[in-house]
Amino acid sequence: MLTSSTPAKPHTKWSDKQSKALADLTEEFTLSTAQLEHLTAAFIDQMQSGLAGDHKSSDLAMIPTFVSGRLDGQERGSYLALDLGGTNFRVCLITLKGNHDVEPNSESFKVTEHLQEAHISELMDFIAISIKDFITREHISSKIAKHRSNSNTLELGFTFSFPVTQTAIDAGMLLRWTKGFNCPGAVGSDIVQLLQEALDRKEVKVHVAALVNDTVGTLLAHSYKYPNTFIGAIFGTGTNGAYVEATRSIKTMPTPTAKEMIINIEWGNFDKDKRFLPVTPFDNKLDRESINPGVHVFEKMISGMYLGEITRNILLHLIDRRLLFDGTSSQKLNAHWSFKTEFMSQIESDTSPNLTSIAQILKQKLEICSKAQIDREIVKAVCELVGKRAARLSAMATAAVVRKGLSDGGHLAGDGYPLKLSEKHRVFDTAAGVNKSETAVEKVHERTDSAVVHDGNLIHVGIDGSVFKLYPHFEERMVEGLTELLGSRAKDLVPLNIAEDGSGVGAALAALIATKNAVHSR
Ligand code: ADP
Ligand code: MG
Repeated sequence: MLTSSTPAKPHTKWSDKQSKALADLTEEFTLSTAQLEHLTAAFIDQMQSGLAGDHKSSDLAMIPTFVSGRLDGQERGSYLALDLGGTNFRVCLITLKGNHDVEPNSESFKVTEHLQEAHISELMDFIAISIKDFITREHISSKIAKHRSNSNTLELGFTFSFPVTQTAIDAGMLLRWTKGFNCPGAVGSDIVQLLQEALDRKEVKVHVAALVNDTVGTLLAHSYKYPNTFIGAIFGTGTNGAYVEATRSIKTMPTPTAKEMIINIEWGNFDKDKRFLPVTPFDNKLDRESINPGVHVFEKMISGMYLGEITRNILLHLIDRRLLFDGTSSQKLNAHWSFKTEFMSQIESDTSPNLTSIAQILKQKLEICSKAQIDREIVKAVCELVGKRAARLSAMATAAVVRKGLSDGGHLAGDGYPLKLSEKHRVFDTAAGVNKSETAVEKVHERTDSAVVHDGNLIHVGIDGSVFKLYPHFEERMVEGLTELLGSRAKDLVPLNIAEDGSGVGAALAALIATKNAVHSR
C-alpha cells in the first residue's frame, strides 16, 4: 500500500524542472512499507538492548518508572495532582468516581521569572502555599471531605517535566534544569523530597506519593477509561512513549517485586546515530542548527517543534533553484524557526480551488506574495511530504511497541491477556519474519474470531499532544502505517484515541497506585 508516495495532484501545469524536483523530494521523504518494517525491527532491537542496560548499542533509555499494577476504572477517591513543567504550574483535585468516570478540578499558578531562578526552597514553598490555598477553597475542601479516604493526609501525584533519574515511584533526582528554569539547590537532589519538605514546613497535610513523566500519566489516564491500555504516547512539542512491560524482561531492575511495570521509552532518541532512519540533508541541516545536535534525531523528524523548520529548509532549497516564488524569499522565511508547524496544518487543510488560505498564510505570516497557483500547490505538496513522513514514523514506533508486547516474554504474551499468538516466534522473528504477509494482528484476529471485537481483545493506545490532535490527517496516516505493519485489522484492534489530562488524572492515578502498593508491602 503506497498511497503515501503520490504528491498532491497539481491543478496547474508544473514545469518539467518543478515536477522533477518534487519527484525527487517525494522519493526522499516517502517511507515504503519495507522501510517501515526495517525500522520496526531496529526499534525492537533497541528496546531490547535498552532493557538489558546495554546503552552502547541502544539509544533508547527504557527507564523503569516503578509504576506497577493495573487499573480497572472502578477505583475511587480523591487525589491531588501537581503539574510543573513550564511557566505555569497546575494543582488539581481529581475525584475518581468509579465506573471509568472522573471529576477534575484544577487551578493554575504562574511561576514568575523570579521564581524560575530563585533558590529551590523558595519555589517549593510557593508551590506548597498554593496547594494549601487550593485545598482550602470552599468548593474544593467540601469535595475532599466527601471523598476522603481513611487517613486525613491527601495523597499527591507529581508530574515533573524535567530530566530526572527515578529510583522509586516517589523518588527522583533532578539531572538538569531546562526550559528557562535555573533554581539553585535542586540539581542532584530528590525532587520529591524537596517538595515534601516544603509541604511539611508550611504544615500542609499532603503526602507526595508518586513522581511521573507525562507519557506515563497519559497511559494511566487512558487506562482508567480503557483498562486494556498498553501504550501512552505524546506527539506534541516533542515525542515520547511509555508502555507496560513484563518485569522479568527488565534486566536493569535488581529484584522485581511486581509482574509488570510501565517503562518510559524516551523514544525521541531512537537511532540517534542515523544508522536506520532515512534522514535527508534537510533533517541534517536542522539537527546541526538545533540546540542539541546529534541527539533526538527521531523526535526531530516527528514533532511539532521541528516539522515547520524541515518544511522551511525544503522551501528555501526550491527557491534557490528558482522553482518556487520566482526564486525570491523574504526576511521572515529566511529566519530560522519562522515557519511554524501550525502553518502546515492550515496549509494542508486548504482544499479550496485556488488555495486561498495558503496564499493568506504566506502573505500574513511569511511576507511572501504567491501570485502563481503553482507556488501554492508546491508549498502544499511539501507540507504533505513532511507531515506524512512524521505520521508514518509515529506509526512505526507504535507498531514496534505492540509487536514487542506480543512477542515472547512481552507483557501482552503473558497469562491473563486475551490475545495469544500460537506461532508468535515465527511471526515476530524480526530477521526471518518481517516480510511475511501474515502479520501480527491478522494472526491475532484469526484467533479471536472474525465476528466480534470486544474490548478485552483490544490493545488501546492513549495519545496526547497538539500534533496528533490538530494536524489534519495525522491520525489517518498513522492508521495507514499501522495497517501496513500490523495487518488489515489494526484500526479495530489497536485503537488510537486521545487521552484526557494525563498530567492531572494520570498523576492522581499514580498516587493511588503508589498508596495501594505501599499498603501491600507493609
Ligand atoms: P506540549 O507538547 O509542550 O505539552 P502540545 O501538545 O500542545 O504541548 O504541543 C505543542 C506543539 O504542537 C508546538 O510545538 C506546536 O508546534 C505544535 N502545534 C500546535 N498547534 C498545532 C497545530 N494546529 N497543528 C500542528 N501542530 C501544532
Ligand atoms: Mg504536553
